[in-house]
Amino acid sequence: MAENKLLLATANMGKIAELKALLAGRDIKVLGLADIPEGDRTPPDENGKNYCENALIKAGCWQSRSALPTLADDSGLAVDYLGGAPGIYSARFSGADATDQDNNDLLLRKLDGVPPGGRGAAFHCCIALCRPSMPPLTFTGRADGIILSRPVGEGGFGYDPLFYYPPLDKSFAQLDSAEKNRVSHRAAALREFLRWLETGSLPG
Ligand code: IMP
Repeated sequence: MAENKLLLATANMGKIAELKALLAGRDIKVLGLADIPEGDRTPPDENGKNYCENALIKAGCWQSRSALPTLADDSGLAVDYLGGAPGIYSARFSGADATDQDNNDLLLRKLDGVPPGGRGAAFHCCIALCRPSMPPLTFTGRADGIILSRPVGEGGFGYDPLFYYPPLDKSFAQLDSAEKNRVSHRAAALREFLRWLETGSLPG
């Protein structure tokens, strides 16, 4: 039987390695954007209203360019005190060219003086699957935590140093990648995808 190919529409090697590890032992070859032939590489406008719309925009765009079954993810941090912000704007919370540090500084300023009980937040992830001539599917995951009043830990990326995860009594930046891959919003969404894969088929 021919090996199934699955394109993960990202240039992020960490995400590709994570998906490869989760799919080990299955007859699926995971490809990243660097593995597909030359062609239009312009990233699509992520102008969806929520994580799943953005994930579907990315998966749909790269599926039609590659003709392969394609997964794409979109994620962000929703802070209760800020009415769910920064949400889909997490990467550019403090401006178009914002660094992680800029975004974390702005988040700390906005929550200045808010007590721990008011600092609840959740990371959200939506993974979209687009296949040739099949309806698209989405899988979601979340991780709940509390925004710290100062950064803690050296690992991870983005808001990880400010995200305290009560079940492990650590910030996400204190987790090693194996630990984070067990509890993160992205891991939860990937598990949903894997559950679907038990009965679903990739090429259709
Ligand atoms: P993306 O969907 O992976 O591009 O993530 C969008 C933005 O959400 C990132 O730039 C981060 O600011 C934030 N974010 C998403 N996932 C995480 C995470 O696991 N840790 C920290 N920040 C995250």
